[in-house]
Amino acid sequence: MLPVGRFAPSTTGEAHPGTLLAALLAWLDVRAAGGRIVLRLENLDHTRCRPEWATQMIDDLAWFGLDWDEVVDQAARRADHEAALDRLAAAGRLYPCACSRRDRAGGRRAPDGGWAYPNTCRGRALPPGGWRASTEPLRAQLDDGPMTLVDEGGLDLSQDPAAEMGDPVVLRRDGVIAYQLVVVVDDAASGVTRVVRGKDIAPSSATQVALQRVLGVPTPVYRHHLLLVAAHGDKLAKLHGSAPASELRARYRGDELCGLLARAVGLSADDTPLGPADLVRDFSWSRVETRDLVTTWDGTLRFAT
Ligand code: GLU
Repeated sequence: MLPVGRFAPSTTGEAHPGTLLAALLAWLDVRAAGGRIVLRLENLDHTRCRPEWATQMIDDLAWFGLDWDEVVDQAARRADHEAALDRLAAAGRLYPCACSRRDRAGGRRAPDGGWAYPNTCRGRALPPGGWRASTEPLRAQLDDGPMTLVDEGGLDLSQDPAAEMGDPVVLRRDGVIAYQLVVVVDDAASGVTRVVRGKDIAPSSATQVALQRVLGVPTPVYRHHLLLVAAHGDKLAKLHGSAPASELRARYRGDELCGLLARAVGLSADDTPLGPADLVRDFSWSRVETRDLVTTWDGTLRFAT
């Protein structure tokens, strides 16, 4: 069976070098094996996503040299997401919880650096009208107990997700169906067999596998790759305004930037301009740097370990 991969950016701002690197690695991972790759625009958070950023994202990725077998507009998949909530409700797994982050502060530290949710509201019933009638956020009750999970690169993601992270929010107070659930539903709907993404999301993998088990959908192979980080160690994020695609495109051609990134992560011996398609033949994860790269942008993009 040919692998199916996906790149799933949140459309909360312009692409930056970290976005392009994540897209490149997810794309190479399946293209090198002759598989299919889906671009999924994660645009459910109406407080942070804008349609023009989705359009811009598609354009920036094409400029960089990437192509997709399918583009999925996550917001158009609401019916499927609601069906998953129906199934969780039917299985008795959904419960309302209005506990705030402040209620958890000072409790147990979660593997993602936040505060674990101690499943305080487990056992609370949905309103008589069902989950659609809830005015409170909803959580999904996961199975208790430890899970052994090691990603393809050897990263140990084993956790007891129900205890260490807590049951995840699946419906937010503002009606947005939450990431942890939709990522699982959408990966399954696209037949995704390989999830390649940055290490920042690794602590969520056990929660996602637990949700897959509750919903009875297959678990893909996971691989978490290096991040491009700012000098102070944070993920190079749109929030830092770091190297937005509009500025990169004014400075580089797509193949020039791809060549720079390829060299930075070990896929090319020098800065020769190369498109993603030029990297397919020799692609191997054994060549890809695993340490995060400190990335700076002052009109020229530079990387350091
Ligand atoms: N949308 C998430 C992000 O941009 C990635 C989700 C995933 O790859 O599972 O960080």
